[in-house]
Amino acid sequence: MIVEGAHVVTVTGAEIPGGHVVVEGDRITAVGAGPAPDRAGHEVVDGRGCLLTPGFVNTHDHLYQWVTRGLAVDATLFEWLTALYPVWAGIDEDAVHAGASGALAQLALTGCTTSSDHHYVFPREGGDVLGATIRAAGEVGLRFHPTRGSMDLGRRDGGLPPDHVVESTEEILAASADAVARWHDPSPGSMLRVALAPCSPFSVTGDLMRESAVLARELGVRLHTHLAETDDEDAFCRERFGCSPLEYVDSLGWTGDDVWFAHGIHFTDDAVKRIGATRTGVAHCPSSNGRLGAGIARVRALRDAGALVGLGVDGAASNEAGSLLEEVRHAVLFARATGGPTALSVREAVELATVGGAQVLGRVDEIGSVEPGKLADLALWRIDGPAHADVADPVAALVLGAPPPLERLLVGGATVVDRGRVTTVDTEAIAQRCVRVHRDLREKAS
Ligand code: ZN
Repeated sequence: MIVEGAHVVTVTGAEIPGGHVVVEGDRITAVGAGPAPDRAGHEVVDGRGCLLTPGFVNTHDHLYQWVTRGLAVDATLFEWLTALYPVWAGIDEDAVHAGASGALAQLALTGCTTSSDHHYVFPREGGDVLGATIRAAGEVGLRFHPTRGSMDLGRRDGGLPPDHVVESTEEILAASADAVARWHDPSPGSMLRVALAPCSPFSVTGDLMRESAVLARELGVRLHTHLAETDDEDAFCRERFGCSPLEYVDSLGWTGDDVWFAHGIHFTDDAVKRIGATRTGVAHCPSSNGRLGAGIARVRALRDAGALVGLGVDGAASNEAGSLLEEVRHAVLFARATGGPTALSVREAVELATVGGAQVLGRVDEIGSVEPGKLADLALWRIDGPAHADVADPVAALVLGAPPPLERLLVGGATVVDRGRVTTVDTEAIAQRCVRVHRDLREKAS
């Protein structure tokens, strides 16, 4: 396939107005100015009037939450969690498959080609809920980095989650090793890589954090958790452990370029320095953080310190839009609203969504930029309609303008979205299924 005539945003190199990109198999084989030199045997996609970017990388999500949207809409994080745990406790394989399908289809429609997922609710009668997310990602056709999440600190032991949604430390470690053995594919071009993800300082024990880090490093997989999301969490850590959230997890082995934190809002200057020095990753989720009034991560300071920063939509229960493109826009707006006009440029926000996310997930050798040799994960945005045609800067049209129509989305060279429609799954049928599942879950919880 050849895409010709688009404004190509390579991200790592210069932008190419009216350039071409050649795709062979699952890889990009050539990128350059003007028409492609040799068109023989290729499908030619007319990219005139379009912006071509690398596909976006979603570094934090809870896909199942797509079926629990619009609840506790004016609550703080702890209030919101307390309201939602009983609803989430009712999920099973079928509910998770429906929710993940809906969330992933929406991600595809908003330019995402690689998504992670943090699944940490495993009801005893729920069946294979992690497998259900993996099945959904395979059907929608996105590159997928699921994590085996976990909670082992219930209310009885001073944690936040109700006791019936937590598992024992031993069960979790066995299930984590099993998930890696069953699904993790470290090979080049992999569509599926697994990481381990104890949920947060107030829902897991220190033992689980420490043992998960040891296990992940033995197995060669990455580590993910929520950290420094709210002031409440900061107070919890200071009271229970006598230190900040970062000092706590650092003492358990949780810094390094194989670790990424969701949110990372309430970091002290020392914490920012430490995260930068250890090249630890942060999944910045501006919409969810705004929705829950949690605060806004210091993206400028984190980037300047050397931290790896990507974007995430977070679960749809705290971000009903579930749009990765919206995170790009919000990253710019929120950074400037809190840090002034130079806090984040429009192009830096695109970097966060692409090469930044690729670094966070350990895939920068294969995704995140438009370069020969990289995987053909590409988004082609139409910016010649009335909402965008006269915006002087095409990248600003994408980031600051109204969400443009997605002309085409390729994952490893395969089409997932064509002219604004997901081609791989029936989104109408998924939406109807999600309505039923949402209703059933709320009935079960009441
Ligand atoms: Zn989250």
